[in-house]
Amino acid sequence: MSKKIVPLTKDKLEEIAGQYPTPFHLYDEKAIRENAREFYRAFSWVDGFINHFAVKACPNPAILKILQEEGMGVDCSSLPELLLSEKVGFSGEEIMFTSNDTPPEEFEEASRLGAIINLDDLKHLETVLKNGGMPEMISFRYNPGDLRSGNVLIGDPREAKYGVPRDQIIEAYRLAKDQGAQRFGLHTMVASNELEDEYFVETARMLFELAVQIKRKTGIKVEMINMGGGIGIPYHPDQQAVDLNYVSGEMKKLYEKYIAGEGLDPVKIVFECGRMVTGPYGYLVSRVRHVTRKYKDYVGLDACMADLMRPAIYGAYHHVYVPGKEDISKNKVYDLTGSLCENNDKFAIDRTLPLLEPGDLVVIHDTGAHGYAMGFNYNGKLRSAEVLLKEGGTTSLIRRAETVDDYFATLRFTNAPIDV
Ligand SMILES: *Cc1c(COP(=O)(O)O)cnc(C)c1O
Repeated sequence: MSKKIVPLTKDKLEEIAGQYPTPFHLYDEKAIRENAREFYRAFSWVDGFINHFAVKACPNPAILKILQEEGMGVDCSSLPELLLSEKVGFSGEEIMFTSNDTPPEEFEEASRLGAIINLDDLKHLETVLKNGGMPEMISFRYNPGDLRSGNVLIGDPREAKYGVPRDQIIEAYRLAKDQGAQRFGLHTMVASNELEDEYFVETARMLFELAVQIKRKTGIKVEMINMGGGIGIPYHPDQQAVDLNYVSGEMKKLYEKYIAGEGLDPVKIVFECGRMVTGPYGYLVSRVRHVTRKYKDYVGLDACMADLMRPAIYGAYHHVYVPGKEDISKNKVYDLTGSLCENNDKFAIDRTLPLLEPGDLVVIHDTGAHGYAMGFNYNGKLRSAEVLLKEGGTTSLIRRAETVDDYFATLRFTNAPIDV
């Protein structure tokens, strides 16, 4: 079980919603910092432990800055993410660049920043050589194929477009070394939103065993092992968060057996989690616009799937809270919708909630990662604002809502050609 508690009273939420029109995503700085500290405490046995926060999960400079202050690095997968990270002040090996089907100029930019380049494919070695040159340190993303079953979200590794397959991975290190790389990392990402503790222990075992194989077959000692991201969060109150202390303890045993035992010590263990870092500490705050009965009871919000598309694309559960109606018995069953012209624009289907009326605030939990970030403009929907609830209880607008002018910014309404 996990408790779903919004860190604000109804009055405070109304006050904030008076200041910033709904819908907006609200992030809880204090909780983000406390969670980051717990994560680092769990892995304090690792020398130089770092989580490269996956920028794609919450690409806002204010959030990245908070995470930087808590000792995190970043994981980028595109040029804009690299530039965003640079602007926030990340540099060198605080930045991990994990991409696929990569445009050559992105390797060049990653090289310029001194980022750790994590290659998705053998053929990228040549692209890197031609675009910025072979960096001193190179890492490979490993795809274990049928050695792992993957999980529901990421699927069977054999069907995944990512990573260097088992029969090429040793060759990849050999080639990189021949071409001038001097330091090496190893990476995988085989799960997404995974809640099973054992899954991460097994990932560690798999990578440690592979590090031993790489050493035996090529003489290369990897100095960094990146466990990837994918640590899940309990979206549903019946779910349980991953026990990081347990996972860390088991990883330590495996480290001693494989890494220390085989003379590979020291290897820096790192992660690149996004979801578990900010996910539970973000809330989509919206208001009921419309309540109606058709064949079912519908509640239309002023937010839509452009603000949070996980329920629409994965059927994902997001907990819903109605401030001020805690004591009213939940005896209504609603579909909670947005206004987009797609019938999957629903935040919840057949959800038992208190009686809702137009004007009620509705808070959707766990939108701090892959929430705002996955937004889009389909159907002319403008993207929402982001608000930071600061440690002292005050708020600040860390991204304004889009305007129609933003939406029109890439268009021309005359016959004049667009300059490219
Ligand atoms: C998306 C992604 C992550 C972050 O995943 P979370 O589920 O947010 O932890 C990390 N690494 C890579 C390569 C990714 O694609």
